[in-house]
Amino acid sequence: MRIVSLVGNRPQFVKAAPLCIALRAQGEEILVHSGQHYDPALADLFFDELGIPAPDHALEVGAGTPVRQLAVIMERFEQVLRDEEPDVVVVYGDTTTTLAGALTATKCGVPLAHVEAGLRSFDRSMPEEQNRVVTDHLSRVLLCPTRLGVDNLAAEGITAGVHLVGDVMFDASRMFAPLAARRPGPAAHGLEPGGYLLVTIHRAAATDTPEALDAMVEVLSSLGGPAIFPVHPRTRDRLAPDGRWHALGQVPGLVLAPPTGYLDFTSLLMGARAVVTDSGGVQKEAYFHGVPCITLRDTTEWMETVEGGFNTLTGMDPARVQAALTAISMPAGRPPFYGDGHAADAIARALVAELG
Ligand code: UDP
Repeated sequence: MRIVSLVGNRPQFVKAAPLCIALRAQGEEILVHSGQHYDPALADLFFDELGIPAPDHALEVGAGTPVRQLAVIMERFEQVLRDEEPDVVVVYGDTTTTLAGALTATKCGVPLAHVEAGLRSFDRSMPEEQNRVVTDHLSRVLLCPTRLGVDNLAAEGITAGVHLVGDVMFDASRMFAPLAARRPGPAAHGLEPGGYLLVTIHRAAATDTPEALDAMVEVLSSLGGPAIFPVHPRTRDRLAPDGRWHALGQVPGLVLAPPTGYLDFTSLLMGARAVVTDSGGVQKEAYFHGVPCITLRDTTEWMETVEGGFNTLTGMDPARVQAALTAISMPAGRPPFYGDGHAADAIARALVAELG
């Protein structure tokens, strides 16, 4: 089986690490990098650190509006599909790269497989939700990380080609935890293990308007204790004007850092008192490592973490964040919401079963 995998964003590189190994054991994988994330701290570092094979094709889309990126990736990806003639295109998650891969594969008549199918926040104003819904409805093979994902697809009338495989981010977390444990983690930033919050914020809803940016500064100013915030380049760019970045630099106890590689980030996560985030993947990683999570959104596609008492939704609201921090706890025992750590193998088997 000839498999073309399309990646382009930080969380997709993490997912590709275990999946490239499993796919290459089943068939021939051709890896394509859209270039949506091109900053070395969000891209090259991940390929090096996680041992991801060098891409066979680099589409080099670079910066631009989502519509422009979509158009450029589609045009360049079409040529790759014409040249490579794959049996299947595999896309991951919910980004512009995902949607571009899904539309191009469909228009070129190549079967599409979606890793992380069925996830829903039920908020259609989120670009990620728009990308997921369209991609799922175009996919021939739907690879769901959770039972909820399977149920969401069934509610939309999709039952054929659906496989419950577990979560490849859990595979990655198990693969790399021993290496991450050897990193300096909090000590490198003068922080005490167990005594600080780990913050990440990068979603459009949190960074795209002055009101949202002010709300972010207010939340970060009210955390009230040691915290480290590895800042996504987009967030940093948006905070730079109008004194917001400067104001954050004055918040006592808040360490502003560049985005880290996966191993350093995991090391910081393992030592954190709690995680405060608007990321999708980081909510799950907190759960994998038994760290309580506060999610700065009103919806999540990882509802099992909320219902299980591992994750609290607060929106970008200082009072709700404070309340969640005060009440923070970690239930004993974590159910296997995300599979057994062998999702990548299950995905490779599902592709063979559906298309092999
Ligand atoms: N991550 C990282 N360094 C950072 C912040 C996050 O390596 O400074 C990793 C994190 O461990 C997770 C992934 O990036 O695996 C999450 O990506 P992101 O939050 O950008 O995307 P989302 O999951 O929200 O789509």
